Amino acid sequence: MNATGSHLKNLDYSVVQQCMHCGLCLPTCPTYDATKLERNSPRGRIALMRAIADGRLEATEVFAEEMYFCLGCLACMTACPAGVNYAELFEHARAEAEQSGVLDSPKRSLIRGFTLRWLFMDLSRLQLVGRVLRLYQQLGLQAFVRRSGALRLLPKRLRELEAMTPEVQPKFSAELIDPVTPSAGPKKHRVAMLIGCAQDLIFSDVNRDTVEVLARNGCEVITPPEQLCCGSLHAHNGEWELAQQLARRNIDQFPPEQFDAIITNAGGCGSHLKHYAKLLAGESAYEARAHEWDRKVKDIHEWLAEIGIAPPASNGRTQVVTYHESCHLCHGQKITTQPRQLLQSIPGVKMVELFESNWCCGSAGIYNLTQPEMAGQLLERKMEHIRTTKCEVVATGNPGCLLQIVNGAKEAGLNLRVVHPVTLLAEAYRSADDLGRESAN
Ligand code: SF4
Ligand code: SF4
Repeated sequence: MNATGSHLKNLDYSVVQQCMHCGLCLPTCPTYDATKLERNSPRGRIALMRAIADGRLEATEVFAEEMYFCLGCLACMTACPAGVNYAELFEHARAEAEQSGVLDSPKRSLIRGFTLRWLFMDLSRLQLVGRVLRLYQQLGLQAFVRRSGALRLLPKRLRELEAMTPEVQPKFSAELIDPVTPSAGPKKHRVAMLIGCAQDLIFSDVNRDTVEVLARNGCEVITPPEQLCCGSLHAHNGEWELAQQLARRNIDQFPPEQFDAIITNAGGCGSHLKHYAKLLAGESAYEARAHEWDRKVKDIHEWLAEIGIAPPASNGRTQVVTYHESCHLCHGQKITTQPRQLLQSIPGVKMVELFESNWCCGSAGIYNLTQPEMAGQLLERKMEHIRTTKCEVVATGNPGCLLQIVNGAKEAGLNLRVVHPVTLLAEAYRSADDLGRESAN
């Protein structure tokens, strides 16, 4: 896609015209389910996109708002018998909305400029913000402000956002993971580890657990301390050129020809990372390498299922676990059985299936910040199903879902542990080690 002209008009027309209007996707679409309005359905949205591509419609404010009401959950892609590439349409439609400027306002431009164009283009800036927030939390200032009642002076929306502030980890990934982690046994694979952006600040422990599990299963793991955002936030929010810049820089930092796999443990990132070739199509310096990159990017569950894992020994404990599927892991990457297999390989894990496990929890990138009402409805629905399982642990493979369900459990007063599956596996290995040491003494 060139930088000029309409994104939808420039898009390959075979993608634009794929929809045959059958409507089979409608029951799987959370926004259509909530409103029963055709324009809030995949079919309705695709019709709007096609009208723009055909020159029958200009991008209007209503069009742009509709594109931002869509969760981008991609449940419609799983349901579609015609193989409509909604992911591609959706990204170009949001880029079209941004290009048209119909939603522009000084406040919106300021927020987008600060986050998408500044904060998430250089992760040292994000870490700086994370350090300030960590200090604020560790010094007890956050707890003091919450107790003091000062937050009551804020508008309702800001109070809600404050309540959602995640706890920043005491250490970021670079402080927990060596740049080179040798394989614990004979080296069979050389892999790169992507630490992510939000993941690094809020779930650096999941990154540590991922590297530990990889090393225990024959991988030498390369984890450079300074990394970049994958660009999914940019691509999903209409910043196509920034997403391209990040894709080029990531390929330069992790030359795909040097690794057997490039590992991500975040479902949302993986779904985007596997499509760099589309982003960089036509760029002679990158296109071929981007194809190799796409082949080498592996979600951690997918990679562990491919290489096979050493089963951990039992520690005699049992835990009732349910599994919530990240949309971009199950609909975006079609990874559904591998996380369940991983969980079932852990001794003592009693799996209880979650009803509607692949129905969006409302996190959807920053959707819970931009569309709080719809996100709240989805979270309530998810928490109700989780409550029914009577589980102690919810496992899920994406930082946005982890945070959303942690907040949902807090609101619902549920005593739940919410973890990444790889953390449960790492803990099982560690407790088997402890048992081994105890019996040796
Ligand atoms: S991505 Fe999700 S919310 Fe958007 S149209 Fe498809 S199913 Fe509906
Ligand atoms: S299922 Fe596919 S072809 Fe049918 S309406 Fe939905 S997007 Fe179009």
